[in-house]
Parts: sequence; structure tokens; C-alpha cells
Amino acid sequence: MDTTTRTMDVVKRIALVAHDHKKTALINWAKQHSEALMQHQLYGTGTTGTLLAQQGFEVEALLSGPMGGDQQLGAMIAEGKIDLMIFFWDPLDAVPHDPDVKALLRLAAVWNIPMATNQATADFILASRHFNQQFSVDVPDYAGYLKKRTQ
Ligand code: PGA
Repeated sequence: MDTTTRTMDVVKRIALVAHDHKKTALINWAKQHSEALMQHQLYGTGTTGTLLAQQGFEVEALLSGPMGGDQQLGAMIAEGKIDLMIFFWDPLDAVPHDPDVKALLRLAAVWNIPMATNQATADFILASRHFNQQFSVDVPDYAGYLKKRTQ
């Protein structure tokens, strides 16, 4: 598919997600980087988002992951409403919504958003000069795709 460019604003719309055994790690990580994170617009799956809000973060909590929150985030990514994702995924635990998790990771890859699936990568993203600047990414040219398929 052809690609086009999407430019992220200085203020990023950031999705924060953590599986159950990774929630403490994500909360601690977020607290450690609260000053940097609070410059941006935060979204979280239901439980993760609510835990972050309890720590003083301004965050929009979606549905809980197993109840559709991962799917909500995936849809927002496809609609260009999320700029990057920090997902403390647990590779050592099975979750009931594994298909939703895979779908979320797939859509993040399709729409080429920066995505951390572990703490080390989250640290790299936060340390990036792009974190507080506009940043352009190549994304699928959906308008062109549709035109070709319908003419
Ligand atoms: P939760 O969802 O924040 O509601 O626990 C996380 C997940 O997707 O597993």
C-alpha cells in the first residue's frame, strides 16, 4: 500500500496499558516520569487508567482491557487519535483477551505508532528528542487505497 505522512503534535496523545502483573511496574515508571508525561494527553485502559488517576495523573480511562479497552484503543489508533503507546505487556501470563491484545499490537504496527512493549523501550521513547517535538511518521494512504478500490 502507498503511504502518506502524519505529523504528531508536540503534545502527544499517549496510551498507557499494563497487564495485571505489570501494573505496579507501570505505575512506578509513570511516577518516575510524571513531569514528562503530564505535558501530554494520557489515555489508559480501565484499570490501568484508574490506578494512574489515583496517583494524580490526568488520564482518560477507557473500558478495562478484557471488557473491550484494548479494542477501543486499537480503534483510536486506526482513527489517528493515539500518537504513541506504552504497553507493559506480560509475556509470562495468559490473558483471556489475548486476541484483543494481538489486534491492538497489530493496529499499532499498521499505523506505525511508536510503541513500547517493555520498560526499556519506554525509557528510550521518553529520552527521545521527538517526545517533545512534532514528529512525522509514514502511515498507510487510506484515502488513496479507497480511491483505487472504488474507481
Ligand atoms: P486494564 O487492561 O488496564 O483494564 O487491566 C489492561 C489490559 O489490556 O490487559
